[in-house]
Amino acid sequence: MIDLRSDTVTRPTAEMRRAMAEAEVGDDVYGEDPTANLLEQRAAEISGKEAALFVPTGTMGNTIAIKLLTEHGQEVICDSRSHILDYELAMTAWFSGCLIRAIPTEDGILDWSQIRPLVKPVHPHCGPTGAIEIENTHNMGGGMVYTVEAIREIANGAHELGVRVHMDGARVFNAAVALRVPVEEIVAPVDTVMFCLSKGLGAPAGSILAGPAELIDKGRLLRKRLGGGMRQVGVLAAAGLIALEDTPARLGEDHANARFFAEGVARIPGIAIEPRKVVTNIVVFDIGATCLTAGELSRRLKQRSVLINGIGPSHMRAVTHYDVTRADCAQAVEALAEAVARVAIN
Ligand SMILES: *Cc1c(COP(=O)(O)O)cnc(C)c1O
Repeated sequence: MIDLRSDTVTRPTAEMRRAMAEAEVGDDVYGEDPTANLLEQRAAEISGKEAALFVPTGTMGNTIAIKLLTEHGQEVICDSRSHILDYELAMTAWFSGCLIRAIPTEDGILDWSQIRPLVKPVHPHCGPTGAIEIENTHNMGGGMVYTVEAIREIANGAHELGVRVHMDGARVFNAAVALRVPVEEIVAPVDTVMFCLSKGLGAPAGSILAGPAELIDKGRLLRKRLGGGMRQVGVLAAAGLIALEDTPARLGEDHANARFFAEGVARIPGIAIEPRKVVTNIVVFDIGATCLTAGELSRRLKQRSVLINGIGPSHMRAVTHYDVTRADCAQAVEALAEAVARVAIN
């Protein structure tokens, strides 16, 4: 099977498995797991933040971040297709008691001029803005990347109004590779950032929440409250360290494969995509003109040993990662062309 459903499907490398087996461990709830402590220290250094917290999932990292930056009864501003809105079980309402104020965008990327009119102060009628959230790279937007300039403008504008900014940087290392700018520089303007070790970086599980030490200390308590206080978690952190230190250098291959896949797919009649917009490892394409639904096309692809999921009835999303090669991408394009061509004949 050529699995392009997500970069979460990557399996730990032999080196990661070895490091996991040999990891020094202790009880992390007592702060005594040396490997988890080292991972948090390196994550803080690499992201240029004071402190970092290892969390089991990106969803938990985002959930803790929103709780840290808001009070019950406030609003969180984000784009209308953000992961925190569509794929995290309404956690902003459940854990933080906040409403989402969503902004429609073309590709998930916001700019300050869209956000500014929606920032609300304390008022007799309106829920005030508690936080602004931006997603980088943008998942449903096809892996789109914020410029550092746009992030600075959003954060500076927000801070002037006393509002803090969280970046859902699940794939911020992909953004860094695409921009050729260190992660530290990309996340410098924002207050908190979450990134996943478990996606393109290849760790079996785990994400990082980084930010000011005072917030991360509180975040550690919230992690426990959410059931995320793990014990000898160094076995996971050991793989996370390799993911963090070694994998970013090879993400460019995934990006090149995604562009190659997009160029191939763009030549298939009935499929619409602009390959030049593919700058990271996510390819979202419109299959509306093939007369197939995404569900049907997924089934046909599976018969040809290719896994790609639909996002909505007329769009599909393919994600490249280190378990798919250039040849796999070529084969996936061929499978798509065949699956679509069969309809034209019928
Ligand atoms: C994957 C992802 C997350 C977190 O997902 P988990 O499955 O909870 O680790 C958050 N934001 C974005 C944009 C993601 O793609």
